[in-house]
Amino acid sequence: MMNEALKKIARVQKVDTAIQELKRKFATIDPGRGPTAALEEAKRVHAEAAAAHQALRQEAEDLELATKGFEQKIQKEQDRLYSGGVYNAKDADAIGREVENLKQRRAKNDERILELWELLPPAKQVEETAAEAVKAAEDRLAEYKAKYDVFRKEFETRMADLVEKRKQVVADVDPPLFKKYEQNRDKRHGIGVAIVVDGLCTVCSTPVPKKQLGDIVLGHTLQACENCFRFLYVDETAPVSQ
Ligand SMILES: [Zn+2]
Repeated sequence: MMNEALKKIARVQKVDTAIQELKRKFATIDPGRGPTAALEEAKRVHAEAAAAHQALRQEAEDLELATKGFEQKIQKEQDRLYSGGVYNAKDADAIGREVENLKQRRAKNDERILELWELLPPAKQVEETAAEAVKAAEDRLAEYKAKYDVFRKEFETRMADLVEKRKQVVADVDPPLFKKYEQNRDKRHGIGVAIVVDGLCTVCSTPVPKKQLGDIVLGHTLQACENCFRFLYVDETAPVSQ
Protein backbone atom coordinates (compact mmCIF):
# COMPACT_ATOMS: atom_id res chain seq x y z
CA MET A 1 0.00 0.00 0.00
CA MET A 2 1.06 3.50 -0.77
CA ASN A 3 0.64 4.71 2.81
CA GLU A 4 3.13 2.14 4.12
CA ALA A 5 5.66 3.09 1.45
CA LEU A 6 5.23 6.76 2.35
CA LYS A 7 5.89 6.09 6.02
CA LYS A 8 9.35 4.92 5.04
CA ILE A 9 9.78 8.06 2.96
CA ALA A 10 8.73 10.06 6.02
CA ARG A 11 11.74 8.69 7.89
CA VAL A 12 13.94 10.12 5.14
CA GLN A 13 12.05 13.39 5.43
CA LYS A 14 12.77 13.52 9.15
CA VAL A 15 16.51 13.20 8.51
CA ASP A 16 16.34 15.70 5.64
CA THR A 17 14.58 18.21 7.87
CA ALA A 18 17.27 17.73 10.52
CA ILE A 19 19.96 18.30 7.88
CA GLN A 20 18.23 21.44 6.64
CA GLU A 21 17.86 22.79 10.18
CA LEU A 22 21.50 22.04 11.03
CA LYS A 23 22.66 23.86 7.88
CA ARG A 24 20.40 26.81 8.64
CA LYS A 25 21.75 27.12 12.19
CA PHE A 26 25.35 26.84 11.07
CA ALA A 27 24.82 29.49 8.39
CA THR A 28 23.76 31.99 11.06
CA ILE A 29 27.18 31.76 12.73
CA ASP A 30 29.46 34.59 11.59
CA PRO A 31 32.66 33.00 10.19
CA GLY A 32 34.58 36.14 11.20
CA ARG A 33 33.28 39.04 9.11
CA GLY A 34 33.41 41.43 12.08
CA PRO A 35 37.02 40.82 13.18
CA THR A 36 38.14 40.54 9.54
CA ALA A 37 36.71 43.99 8.79
CA ALA A 38 38.36 45.37 11.94
CA LEU A 39 41.71 43.97 10.81
CA GLU A 40 41.32 45.46 7.33
CA GLU A 41 40.57 48.86 8.87
CA ALA A 42 43.59 48.62 11.21
CA LYS A 43 45.80 47.73 8.23
CA ARG A 44 44.46 50.69 6.27
CA VAL A 45 45.18 53.09 9.15
CA HIS A 46 48.68 51.62 9.55
CA ALA A 47 49.42 51.94 5.82
CA GLU A 48 48.41 55.60 5.95
CA ALA A 49 50.57 56.27 9.03
CA ALA A 50 53.53 54.44 7.48
CA ALA A 51 53.19 56.42 4.25
CA ALA A 52 53.02 59.73 6.15
CA HIS A 53 56.10 58.82 8.20
CA GLN A 54 57.97 57.67 5.12
CA ALA A 55 57.11 60.88 3.25
CA LEU A 56 58.64 62.98 6.06
CA ARG A 57 61.77 60.81 6.17
CA GLN A 58 62.14 61.05 2.41
CA GLU A 59 61.75 64.81 2.50
CA ALA A 60 64.42 65.09 5.24
CA GLU A 61 66.76 62.84 3.28
CA ASP A 62 66.28 64.86 0.08
CA LEU A 63 66.86 68.14 1.90
CA GLU A 64 70.02 66.86 3.62
CA LEU A 65 71.33 65.80 0.24
CA ALA A 66 70.46 69.21 -1.23
CA THR A 67 72.21 70.95 1.68
CA LYS A 68 75.35 68.94 0.97
CA GLY A 69 75.09 70.02 -2.66
CA PHE A 70 74.84 73.69 -1.64
CA GLU A 71 77.83 73.33 0.66
CA GLN A 72 79.92 71.83 -2.13
CA LYS A 73 78.93 74.62 -4.51
CA ILE A 74 79.70 77.27 -1.90
CA GLN A 75 83.08 75.66 -1.30
CA LYS A 76 83.76 75.55 -5.03
CA GLU A 77 82.85 79.23 -5.53
CA GLN A 78 84.98 80.28 -2.57
CA ASP A 79 87.92 78.20 -3.84
CA ARG A 80 87.55 79.91 -7.21
CA LEU A 81 87.54 83.32 -5.52
CA TYR A 82 90.60 82.65 -3.41
CA SER A 83 92.59 80.57 -5.84
CA GLY A 84 93.85 83.63 -7.66
CA GLY A 85 92.04 82.83 -10.86
CA VAL A 86 89.61 85.75 -10.59
CA TYR A 87 91.23 89.02 -11.65
CA ASN A 88 88.49 91.60 -11.66
CA ALA A 89 86.09 93.03 -9.11
CA LYS A 90 83.05 92.35 -11.30
CA ASP A 91 83.69 88.61 -11.35
CA ALA A 92 84.44 88.65 -7.63
CA ASP A 93 81.12 90.41 -6.98
CA ALA A 94 79.25 87.87 -9.08
CA ILE A 95 80.82 85.03 -7.16
CA GLY A 96 80.02 86.76 -3.88
CA ARG A 97 76.36 87.11 -4.88
CA GLU A 98 76.21 83.47 -5.94
CA VAL A 99 77.70 82.36 -2.62
CA GLU A 100 75.19 84.54 -0.76
CA ASN A 101 72.33 83.07 -2.78
CA LEU A 102 73.51 79.52 -2.07
CA LYS A 103 73.83 80.28 1.62
CA GLN A 104 70.27 81.60 1.70
CA ARG A 105 68.93 78.49 0.04
CA ARG A 106 70.92 76.32 2.42
CA ALA A 107 69.53 78.25 5.41
CA LYS A 108 65.98 77.77 4.14
CA ASN A 109 66.67 74.04 3.76
CA ASP A 110 68.08 73.81 7.26
CA GLU A 111 65.01 75.50 8.65
CA ARG A 112 62.74 72.90 7.09
CA ILE A 113 65.07 70.09 8.22
CA LEU A 114 64.73 71.32 11.81
CA GLU A 115 60.95 71.32 11.40
CA LEU A 116 61.08 67.77 10.05
CA TRP A 117 63.17 66.63 12.99
CA GLU A 118 60.34 67.76 15.21
CA LEU A 119 57.69 66.13 13.05
CA LEU A 120 59.45 62.79 12.65
CA PRO A 121 59.25 61.36 16.21
CA PRO A 122 55.46 61.81 16.57
CA ALA A 123 54.93 60.43 13.05
CA LYS A 124 57.03 57.40 14.00
CA GLN A 125 54.99 57.02 17.19
CA VAL A 126 51.71 57.10 15.23
CA GLU A 127 53.03 54.42 12.88
CA GLU A 128 54.15 52.20 15.77
CA THR A 129 50.81 52.56 17.54
CA ALA A 130 49.01 51.65 14.31
CA ALA A 131 51.28 48.60 13.89
CA GLU A 132 50.37 47.48 17.42
CA ALA A 133 46.68 47.88 16.57
CA VAL A 134 47.16 45.64 13.51
CA LYS A 135 48.83 43.00 15.69
CA ALA A 136 45.98 43.18 18.23
CA ALA A 137 43.36 42.88 15.45
CA GLU A 138 45.22 39.85 14.03
CA ASP A 139 45.18 38.22 17.47
CA ARG A 140 41.47 38.89 17.87
CA LEU A 141 40.74 37.40 14.44
CA ALA A 142 42.83 34.29 15.20
CA GLU A 143 41.01 33.89 18.52
CA TYR A 144 37.64 34.21 16.79
CA LYS A 145 38.62 31.72 14.06
CA ALA A 146 39.67 29.20 16.70
CA LYS A 147 36.24 29.49 18.34
CA TYR A 148 34.52 29.26 14.95
CA ASP A 149 36.53 26.14 14.13
CA VAL A 150 35.05 24.41 17.16
CA PHE A 151 31.54 25.14 15.83
CA ARG A 152 32.53 24.07 12.33
CA LYS A 153 33.94 20.74 13.52
CA GLU A 154 30.84 20.07 15.57
CA PHE A 155 28.70 20.91 12.54
CA GLU A 156 30.73 18.58 10.33
CA THR A 157 30.50 15.72 12.81
CA ARG A 158 26.74 16.09 13.21
CA MET A 159 26.31 16.46 9.45
CA ALA A 160 28.33 13.30 8.79
CA ASP A 161 26.11 11.43 11.27
CA LEU A 162 22.96 12.64 9.54
CA VAL A 163 24.29 11.79 6.08
CA GLU A 164 25.08 8.28 7.31
CA LYS A 165 21.65 7.95 8.86
CA ARG A 166 20.05 9.13 5.64
CA LYS A 167 21.86 6.42 3.69
CA GLN A 168 20.40 3.84 6.03
CA VAL A 169 16.80 5.04 5.77
CA VAL A 170 17.03 5.62 2.02
CA ALA A 171 18.16 2.00 1.55
CA ASP A 172 14.77 0.94 2.90
CA VAL A 173 12.57 2.93 0.51
CA ASP A 174 11.04 2.24 -2.89
CA PRO A 175 13.34 3.87 -5.51
CA PRO A 176 10.67 5.32 -7.89
CA LEU A 177 8.78 6.78 -4.93
CA PHE A 178 12.03 8.14 -3.50
CA LYS A 179 12.70 9.91 -6.80
CA LYS A 180 9.26 11.54 -6.69
CA TYR A 181 9.86 12.57 -3.10
CA GLU A 182 13.20 14.16 -4.05
CA GLN A 183 11.59 16.09 -6.89
CA ASN A 184 8.78 17.31 -4.66
CA ARG A 185 11.23 18.24 -1.89
CA ASP A 186 13.29 20.30 -4.35
CA LYS A 187 10.21 22.25 -5.37
CA ARG A 188 8.72 22.66 -1.86
CA HIS A 189 11.47 24.20 0.26
CA GLY A 190 12.88 20.89 1.46
CA ILE A 191 9.64 19.25 2.53
CA GLY A 192 8.29 16.65 0.11
CA VAL A 193 6.01 14.67 2.37
CA ALA A 194 3.58 15.61 5.15
CA ILE A 195 1.81 13.63 7.83
CA VAL A 196 -1.95 14.01 8.28
CA VAL A 197 -3.01 14.46 11.90
CA ASP A 198 -6.63 14.95 12.94
CA GLY A 199 -7.58 15.32 9.29
CA LEU A 200 -5.16 18.21 8.70
CA CYS A 201 -1.99 18.48 6.63
CA THR A 202 0.62 19.21 9.32
CA VAL A 203 2.71 21.38 7.00
CA CYS A 204 0.03 23.88 6.00
CA SER A 205 -2.93 23.00 8.30
CA THR A 206 -5.32 22.52 5.38
CA PRO A 207 -8.11 19.99 6.05
CA VAL A 208 -7.82 16.84 3.96
CA PRO A 209 -11.17 15.80 2.36
CA LYS A 210 -12.68 12.58 3.77
CA LYS A 211 -12.56 10.77 0.45
CA GLN A 212 -8.89 11.63 -0.01
CA LEU A 213 -8.18 10.49 3.52
CA GLY A 214 -9.62 7.09 2.62
CA ASP A 215 -7.49 6.98 -0.52
CA ILE A 216 -4.40 7.76 1.51
CA VAL A 217 -4.96 5.02 4.06
CA LEU A 218 -6.17 2.30 1.69
CA GLY A 219 -5.29 3.46 -1.78
CA HIS A 220 -2.41 2.71 -4.11
CA THR A 221 -2.00 6.17 -5.63
CA LEU A 222 0.10 9.05 -4.43
CA GLN A 223 -2.04 11.74 -2.79
CA ALA A 224 -0.90 15.33 -2.37
CA CYS A 225 -2.16 18.14 -0.18
CA GLU A 226 -4.41 20.33 -2.34
CA ASN A 227 -2.95 23.46 -0.79
CA CYS A 228 0.82 22.83 -0.36
CA PHE A 229 1.22 19.84 -2.72
CA ARG A 230 3.22 17.71 -0.25
CA PHE A 231 2.58 13.98 -0.52
CA LEU A 232 0.29 12.96 2.31
CA TYR A 233 0.45 9.96 4.55
CA VAL A 234 -1.38 8.94 7.71
CA ASP A 235 0.29 7.35 10.68
CA GLU A 236 -2.50 5.36 12.32
CA THR A 237 -0.38 3.69 14.94
CA ALA A 238 2.40 5.74 16.42
CA PRO A 239 4.61 8.74 15.72
CA VAL A 240 7.20 8.10 13.02
CA SER A 241 9.98 6.08 14.59
CA GLN A 242 13.56 7.29 14.56
ZN1 LIG B 1 -0.46 20.95 3.02
